[in-house]
Amino acid sequence: MKYRDLQIQTQREAPNNARTEGFSFLVRAGYLTRENVPTQLGEITLNYLHYLSNESFFASYLSLPIIGNKNETYFPIASGSVEVAHCPACKYTERLELARFAKTPFPQEEQLPIEKVLTPDCNTIESLANFLNVPKEQTAKALMYTRISDGKFIFVVVRGDMQASEAKLKQQVGDVRAATAEEIVSVGAAAGYASTIGLKDALIVVDDLIPQSQNLVAGANEAGYHLKNTNYGRDYSAEIVADLIQAKAGDACAECGNPLSVLPSILLATREEYQFENILLALTETHHDDKGLTLPHPAAPFDVYLMHIPGKELDTRTKAEELYSELQHAGISVLFDDRDERAGVKFNDADLIGCPIRITVGEKGLKEGMVELKLRKVKENQLVAIENIVEIIKSILN
Ligand SMILES: [Zn+2]
Repeated sequence: MKYRDLQIQTQREAPNNARTEGFSFLVRAGYLTRENVPTQLGEITLNYLHYLSNESFFASYLSLPIIGNKNETYFPIASGSVEVAHCPACKYTERLELARFAKTPFPQEEQLPIEKVLTPDCNTIESLANFLNVPKEQTAKALMYTRISDGKFIFVVVRGDMQASEAKLKQQVGDVRAATAEEIVSVGAAAGYASTIGLKDALIVVDDLIPQSQNLVAGANEAGYHLKNTNYGRDYSAEIVADLIQAKAGDACAECGNPLSVLPSILLATREEYQFENILLALTETHHDDKGLTLPHPAAPFDVYLMHIPGKELDTRTKAEELYSELQHAGISVLFDDRDERAGVKFNDADLIGCPIRITVGEKGLKEGMVELKLRKVKENQLVAIENIVEIIKSILN
């Protein structure tokens, strides 16, 4: 492809909406607009990644620091919108909302008799624990939903110190929405003071720690009152007992017991499809320096950036055109910068766009039958004889 045909617009400055260096360089090098829309160069690159993609895509071509499991592949990045739980020790990886972790129950206690207590203005776990002077883990947190498919009331119980995961709940019961005030009253519960005890027509779902926790404080289903010493099995039971808790950083890995990390990430692939725009971003985050992109072969859209420096005596451009055809015939993908710009401008753009190899046809070298070859990741350049250039490039790319 020719630079002019691609209508590449490079920029000297980072866009002010750049959240990451990779995005900044993608815009500056003319792969993306500031609005994150692929340009023609960007589309070529995405199509090329599509063409490359196969089962061992990430491992064999892209050498990206990825995490994942058999269904999903992620790239950790501070600006990422997906929170992923990851175990650095055994590599267990799962979306945080669905991640498993090892729970530690408290020691078993003897079950005490249930006791109704006055708890005014205690409609949160926080205020309740403070008022009764008990730790939050000694309370039962109630969450109330209505199932979308059949309107069934879903009453969820987790330990008061833990955060429920709606995603895990949905895996158990299907899609839900928050229950309305009328629905809560209709099953015999009281918002802020709700428990499973004495409910009618509710599907009760409890976290798997609840049957192992004794003497929890729960609502009395009467405003201003709670019950002390409620016990699963004795006072109520559930239709479903399952893991309903959202993991957090530092929780023990369910596989190996080491602490889990939580990493903001972007999704690169599922079993069904690749997210090529995210893959391009991950590539540029991983492969850049302070001058621009340093895309590896074969992930780069073009292997060679070919340019000429306009001469005073010799026609460098025609020679570069010849070389362009020759390289293309040899199956090498070339971006030919055919503009009559100053050398400095073209060098800057070549660095920004980041093809692995740069070939420069200049007057001085041409007089001796030589062109300049520079690898993007190496500082020095070298002069090579024009007749050898195809073979040399082929050997670099292999
Ligand atoms: Zn682990």
